[in-house]
Parts: sequence; C-alpha cells; structure tokens
Amino acid sequence: MEEYFIAKDLQADFDTVQVDVSFTAKKGSMTSIVGPSGSGKSTILRMIAGLEDGKKSPGKKIILDEKDITNLPPAKREIGMVFQNHALFDHLRVEDNVSYGLVSRGTKKKEARKLASDFLKDFNLEGFEKRMPQTLSGGEAQRVSLARTLITKPKLVLFDEPLSALDAPLRKKLSELIRQLQKTFGFTGIMVTHDIEEAKRISDRIILIKHGKLTWQGEPKDFSEKMI
Ligand code: ADP
Ligand code: MG
Repeated sequence: MEEYFIAKDLQADFDTVQVDVSFTAKKGSMTSIVGPSGSGKSTILRMIAGLEDGKKSPGKKIILDEKDITNLPPAKREIGMVFQNHALFDHLRVEDNVSYGLVSRGTKKKEARKLASDFLKDFNLEGFEKRMPQTLSGGEAQRVSLARTLITKPKLVLFDEPLSALDAPLRKKLSELIRQLQKTFGFTGIMVTHDIEEAKRISDRIILIKHGKLTWQGEPKDFSEKMI
C-alpha cells in the first residue's frame, strides 16, 4: 500500500533536545510513538498539526493524502487532535462541545446539534447532550473529546497520551473504542503513549523516539520494552 502520510525532516532546536525525525504511515493505520519523557514526542505531534513551527529545515515536508500541507494553517490540515487534558469548553453543553467544529465550519447551529446528537451514539453517550463538562467522569469527558474531534472527519488524528489520566480498566476500554472508531471512520492515527501494552495492543506500527531521534520502528510483535 502506498504511504498516505509522510513527515520528512521535522526538526526543532530546543535547549533541552534537538528533534529531527522522518516517518510515514499507511492509510487507516495506527502508529504509536513511545519513548522517554522529554524526548520530543509531543513536539513531533505539534509540528505535524502546525501548532509548532520548529526549525525551518529545507527538506521539511508533510504530505497527507497526496496533499502538501507543510505550510497550511492548522485548521486547513484536516488533522484532529486529542489530548490528555481533554480541553472541553467548560461553559458549553456536551452537544455544543461536539458540534463546535461543524458550527465553526459554517453548519447552522440547529443542524449541527442534531448531527452531534446522532454522533454521540457511536461513543456510548446517548442522552448526554445537555450535560455540562464538569458533571462528566474522566472516561465520559474523554469520549466527548473523541466525538468532538472526529465529527469533522479528520483524515489524520493525533493522540497525545489521551488516556494517561484514566485507570487501567478504563484505559483498555477506551483504547478498544478508539480502535473500533478507526474501523468505522477510517482515519489514520498517530498516538503518543507511555503504556507499552496499549501500544502493542492497538497499533499496526511502533516508533521509538529517544533524544529527539527515531531510534527504532517496526511491528508491535518485534518491540521490546527493553529498547526504551
Ligand atoms: P515529550 O512529549 O516526549 O515528553 P516534549 O516534546 O513535550 O517531550 O518536549 C521535549 C523537550 O523540548 C522538553 O524539554 C521541552 O521542555 C522542550 N520544549 C518543547 N517545546 C518547546 C518550546 N516551544 N520551546 C523550548 N523548549 C521546548
Ligand atoms: Mg509529551
């Protein structure tokens, strides 16, 4: 299969670390990025999303579905992000959190709410439309966060340790939900995680980052925790 996502010469020069990585991903695949804290994993995701410029390296190239998105603003990249602190809007009901991306792209509020309400079913959140974020459990809030990201149908979804704050059983359930949603929606995923078992369970490919460099990549079955 042809490479659907290509990141070439992503570089950032910080006091603490020099990031310099290139990698690719196939359509509909899940790639996990693992490695020590401070090695540059979040920086890599932020450069892909366009939230961090990094170094102006001449060879830098980000291609998504045959489109060069290297210099596009974040909102034009067709990339979604899910973070650990789910970053819901506290003052908006669940339905308005989820429909936000549609409204900001021009869908009328009433129609967007209807779409959001239908959408919530895939996330086991039926009946949650009118709830405020602070009344949700950690797992529920993270499911709302997933719904909010996926409703705009991003081609690539970046996950930055989205499940770290949850306990192990819930983490397992939610990582399975992410995998299932991937089958339903067909997005390509890149997930930073420190949970090696999770990485092995849900990814097609694992990338190891140390001190800003890619030091290993391959199939989950060939990955050993000792490499970190
Ligand atoms: P990881 O996600 O692997 O834990 P990060 O990508 O968050 O690592 O950070 C890697 C290092 O780069 C850290 O030491 C962090 O403080 C530093 N860093 C990240 N962003 C910036 C920035 N914009 N300016 C300076 N240093 C930064
Ligand atoms: Mg990080």
